[in-house]
Amino acid sequence: MAETGSKDIAEQYMVYAPFAGVFLQVSEQDVSRLENAEKYPDDGELQQVIESLTDWSEKKLFKIETLSDMTELSINLNQICNFSCSYCYSAKGRSNKVIDQKTLFSALSFFIDRKRTEENNLQLTFSGGGDPLMSFSLLKEAIEYSERLSRAHGFSIGYSIVTNGTLFHPDFIDLIRRYDVNVVVSFDVLEEVHHSQRGKYKEVCDGINYLIENGIYPGIRSTITALNVHRMEEMTLEMISKFPSLSGIAYEPVLKPSLFQDISDLEKFYDSFATHYLKAANLGFQHNFSVGNTIINSTEICKERACLGKFTLTPDGNITACSRICSSEEDFYERFHYGTVLENGDVVIDAGKLERIMQNNVYTYTECNACIAKWHCSGGCMLARFSYHQEYFNYHCNFIRKMTIMSLLNQKIEKI
Ligand code: SF4
Ligand code: SF4
Repeated sequence: MAETGSKDIAEQYMVYAPFAGVFLQVSEQDVSRLENAEKYPDDGELQQVIESLTDWSEKKLFKIETLSDMTELSINLNQICNFSCSYCYSAKGRSNKVIDQKTLFSALSFFIDRKRTEENNLQLTFSGGGDPLMSFSLLKEAIEYSERLSRAHGFSIGYSIVTNGTLFHPDFIDLIRRYDVNVVVSFDVLEEVHHSQRGKYKEVCDGINYLIENGIYPGIRSTITALNVHRMEEMTLEMISKFPSLSGIAYEPVLKPSLFQDISDLEKFYDSFATHYLKAANLGFQHNFSVGNTIINSTEICKERACLGKFTLTPDGNITACSRICSSEEDFYERFHYGTVLENGDVVIDAGKLERIMQNNVYTYTECNACIAKWHCSGGCMLARFSYHQEYFNYHCNFIRKMTIMSLLNQKIEKI
């Protein structure tokens, strides 16, 4: 049977069958009846509930077993950025490094190849190290080359770019229109917060407006830190009034242990995030403005690994298992590095290492066995596991459980 989370919050028990997509709030007495259902074969109502909990046709289990199952290529074109954000996860790798075209094309030829995969739909995401738009001509060449490969091999490719929002120009607009590229802008929304953490507030607002004037409606992603964790409602209202044609924002908690003095600091941050995220989401709902978050979105599917499987190309031609690990200067690089594009264009994969990396999954950690978030969090983000020592990570888990329960309660409310 799918994991049944029975947890007492606010005097309630919850029964959750993720593969059946069923979530129930029940009494203590109901829990006992469910646990002893075989003693009540004539209780039609009870047997119907058992049937609904064990009907697993609702959700499929997403998993990646080998390189040939991977469909998403993350590309870090460079290590150059015109920002220096206080929470930047790539700061240690910052340099003037830009990928060379031959390495880039070799990696694309390897990834967009029928010999590698039978999957039809691939996704290419251009994000940090640096900002992809600092290397616009390479970005354009990468997309155009990918299109040629996709036509030759019969793939359909979706493109995304994550950018700081200050480097747009007419040629970029042409490119994203032509290839229907999804644009995500990182933005802290409130002027003084954005200034103190990222800088160039006005330039980012101008960049977002420039896209909108050209009929392009970017996604907005905001990293939440102690500075703005209690201001998500305000941020939501600010977005609605400042950019009324945009449809939503994603709020993601920062992952940077050095920003927290001690465990209670982290705990306070996570508690505050959950409280204010919920208020911001409700506020957004009232204004038809979507407020999202990765943990909340994860409850939509069941999967075996937090990020399934990553194929991330770094500017120096290496392959890593995390889209945030893009330089050998970064912490934990060796634990994520599993491949290299050689000078002759061959791509070499360390299959043993990739296998070990993929073993960081939902089956590995005993603490995940009885966790209500098990099939959505799926063993947790490997980078978070390495970044936080065990005691911190336990609080991280509590936070994920809390957000998961919030999401499930919300889905139930929406269904009613
Ligand atoms: S390891 Fe964590 S941060 Fe890296 S891609 Fe996976 S989920 Fe994202
Ligand atoms: S929240 Fe923690 S215990 Fe639960 S599945 Fe994720 S990593 Fe495992």
